[in-house]
Amino acid sequence: MFRSGSRYRAFFVGWALLALLLIGTVVAAAPVSDDPAQMLRQADVAKTSNHAEFAALMQRLSDGTMKLSAQQQLYLRYLQAWRMGYSGDYDSAIPQLNSIIAESRNATLRFRAGVTLVNLLGIGAHYEEAFSRLNQLLDHLPEVADKDARIQVIGIASQLYIEAGQYDLATKYADQMLKENPVGTNACKANTFRLQSLYKSQKLQSLGTQFQAGIETCVRADEPLFASAIRSYVASFDLQQGQPEAAIMLLQKNYAEVKATRYPFMISTFNALLAQAYWNVGDLARAKQFGLNAIDSSVKNEYTEPLATAYGLLYRIEKKQGDLAGALDYHEKYMAADKGYLNEVSAKALAYQIVNQQVLAKKQQVDALSKQNQILMLRQSLDRKAAETSRLYIILLLTVLACIALLTYRIKRSQLRFMKLARRDGLTGVYNRQHFLAEAERELQYCKKSARDACLVLIDLDHFKDFNDTYGHATGDRVLMHAVQSCQAHLRSTDIFGRLGGEEFGVLLPECTLDQVAGRVEQLRLAIATVADADVLDVVVSASFGVATTACSGYELRELLIHADDALYQAKNTGRNRAVVFDKTANLAREKLRKSRVGTPAPAAQPNA
Ligand code: GH3
Ligand code: MG
Ligand code: MG
Repeated sequence: MFRSGSRYRAFFVGWALLALLLIGTVVAAAPVSDDPAQMLRQADVAKTSNHAEFAALMQRLSDGTMKLSAQQQLYLRYLQAWRMGYSGDYDSAIPQLNSIIAESRNATLRFRAGVTLVNLLGIGAHYEEAFSRLNQLLDHLPEVADKDARIQVIGIASQLYIEAGQYDLATKYADQMLKENPVGTNACKANTFRLQSLYKSQKLQSLGTQFQAGIETCVRADEPLFASAIRSYVASFDLQQGQPEAAIMLLQKNYAEVKATRYPFMISTFNALLAQAYWNVGDLARAKQFGLNAIDSSVKNEYTEPLATAYGLLYRIEKKQGDLAGALDYHEKYMAADKGYLNEVSAKALAYQIVNQQVLAKKQQVDALSKQNQILMLRQSLDRKAAETSRLYIILLLTVLACIALLTYRIKRSQLRFMKLARRDGLTGVYNRQHFLAEAERELQYCKKSARDACLVLIDLDHFKDFNDTYGHATGDRVLMHAVQSCQAHLRSTDIFGRLGGEEFGVLLPECTLDQVAGRVEQLRLAIATVADADVLDVVVSASFGVATTACSGYELRELLIHADDALYQAKNTGRNRAVVFDKTANLAREKLRKSRVGTPAPAAQPNA
């Protein structure tokens, strides 16, 4: 009829939260004064040690005669909330504590208000919010210096995790609580939580000495309630081990002390354990008596484990004694109490799991965000790298462009050089025949358009074949170059000078009239006549000049060349080393004379200039 696990269930749930609320600050009480700051501290101390003094101080602080700073008002409100919670008015205390947490700039006060809030939420069965708030407090624990506040939150954590069935966590916080302060009341409470976790985790093989040591610590610290709690685990364990006599001895020995604590839950626990022990030894009368005591002493309107155990036992006793109506009545009550108690237990475990899931979900959300952040940073660094690569591409492109520009420039330069070479005579550097003719043609057109005079001069070195034969071709070449240089010294930048072939040169003199040309040509003749050569000191060079003018021959180059050549011919024929200007009329006359003398040998030609 009974579930196997329910028969010796742990007898210790829920009481210590309220007990923790009683943990007070250990600051020494100062004498009452009119200083609000001191009065507030005094009230804080007295709230757990001297309720009358606490009430009196609160009355004075709240009656409006005191001038309190904003922070002091918050401190007072905290103490008021604590008092409301202590008196069971959770509905007023909880919002008050929440507003203190929201408004206070004092981190310690905020934390203490948080601790009290978690405590009240736990007692008020708001487990989900209690676990959620507890997590927040534990997160901030490293920043809290106030030792009492730290111990309170660690203790509450240990207690709440026991309630949720998280015994490893509960043990961890109990150990931490012990580390914070390993003596006195704190050591007693921390040990109680640790032993409670150990007992409830059902990993216990034997009790060992630690339970006895825990009881002694609490006895020394004058904490009979906590000592009784540890005794209840020992008795419960004895029952599990089939030693009801040992349980009865321990419980009976301390029964009066438990009753003196006036703490319903613990009294009810002792009664239920005794009822169970007497049932186990077959003493039905005592079992019934302690069962009824357990119901009588239990917390009213609350389904607790001792209550369920007591109803269960009474049902079995009535049944055994044949009172079936009484048995049915107890069975119904047992069912209600057991269900109510188990609901409470699973509500706590569920609340813990829900909050735990929420924390995990939040952590995952934070992890996801940080991953997103990492991706973003990676993307940024990729963008930076892409920008760097683009920069490198641009630099590469610019370099290629610069190379292309340089290459183009060089090609252009060599093109220009080739063009120049193609237009010049290789030996003397003046225009070659082709380019001279093209330039002369262009210049003549220009002169024609602007109606300006120009003269064409043909120069041919005299007896140059003989010269070569006498001095050698190389000397001939040097003389050719010297002759060109000598002539250039007398030419203007606008004059066009070219080598027409062999030792024959042409010069077009723009803006040169018939009157001027004789003087200009004479300068050239003298220049050639004075050509010297370092190797051949007695060299004698001369040249003959044939001149045609636009005034006489027009602007057609062809015509000018024919007429100049004609004049040159005359210069050669009339003794060389001279210049002859073509004269149309004289030429006609000469032609006539030549024709009339056809067949007779021609006399030596006369220069006509
Ligand atoms: P003239 O004109 O006075 O009638 O006699 P010439 O000996 O100069 O006549 P011709 O025109 O017959 O001879 C031209 C000579 O010029 C032939 C050639 O040996 C020489 N000659 C032509 N070109 C060059 C050259 O580039 N270098 C040298 N050294 N001699 C050249
Ligand atoms: Mg010649
Ligand atoms: Mg010649």
